[in-house]
Amino acid sequence: MRLIDGKTISEAIKKEIAAEVASMIDKGKRAPHMAAILVGNDGASETYVASKEKNCRSVGMTSSLYRYDAGISEKELLDAISFLNQDDDVDGFIVQLPLPKHMDVDKVIRAIDPEKDIDGFHPVNMGCLVLGEDTFVPATPYGIMELLERAGIETSGKKCVVLGRSNIVGTPMALLMSRNNPHANATVTICHSKTADLAAEARMADILVAAIGKPGFVTADMVKEGAVVVDVGIHRVEDKTRQNGFRLVGDVDFDQVAPKCSAITPVPGGVGPMTIAALLMNTMKAYRKHISAR
Ligand code: NAP
Repeated sequence: MRLIDGKTISEAIKKEIAAEVASMIDKGKRAPHMAAILVGNDGASETYVASKEKNCRSVGMTSSLYRYDAGISEKELLDAISFLNQDDDVDGFIVQLPLPKHMDVDKVIRAIDPEKDIDGFHPVNMGCLVLGEDTFVPATPYGIMELLERAGIETSGKKCVVLGRSNIVGTPMALLMSRNNPHANATVTICHSKTADLAAEARMADILVAAIGKPGFVTADMVKEGAVVVDVGIHRVEDKTRQNGFRLVGDVDFDQVAPKCSAITPVPGGVGPMTIAALLMNTMKAYRKHISAR
């Protein structure tokens, strides 16, 4: 069994991005600029946004954080988005999800200029993804595709089973895997909560992607001998042996499943760091387009 090391691969990507940023600055261009909107004080969202900002700065990009109280109106948030859409110094931005319940998430996402939608959630970018056109791909599936390619995992002609059909992970993951491209070309099945026999479907997978949102959901009996397993899940579970009182686990029961796999992504250190690297790749893409359009 081989561990697919997302941390090391994401570091290599960040080095490449940092070199490109440095060379643009040497040529007299400004640094790429990513902005983030954070509404409220959700602990996980705070952590994600802080990590995105830190990683941006580590590759020489500019990052700005726009913080709003959980009580702001939807109109105020839409105004903030409109401001960033028009700010020529900002190449791309994200609105950190989840949003407070009084906001219409679809309306908020639709308000983002698709050219600055580095999360790739806008329907225009999702549509381009379906059509196989060049677009901003949602960071988690984009990061997974990059991870598999750089780790030398063969996907062409393989049977891939994706557990989960969310708009941000499962569905784009399935689309990317089935693309006509030497680093995709898989035959894909998507499973969800109404799948009749999910374990039987999963057992057919050469490549199993678990994006279910339930700790330890994938057990050894659901995995074919020699399969490649990609664990997207990320959960904090209580662990009194740790100083901080918790540890991170995925959607896969790692200890049980890993011995059956030819390769598997760990949690932490697998998909998580690749998601951040993919967001930086999307920011570079927005920047290149923006700079060349001037
Ligand atoms: P989500 O929106 O909650 O979607 C979960 C999907 O799993 C849904 O399609 C749901 O089916 C399906 N599902 C849930 N329980 C099931 C069950 N018992 N049997 C079969 N299908 C079931 O979650 P998400 O946003 O895609 O995220 C999935 C996981 O990835 C979460 O743990 C999340 O924290 C993690 N994540 C990690 C990263 C990272 O960077 N590492 C990034 C994003 C997400 P229905 O559609 O039928 O309801």
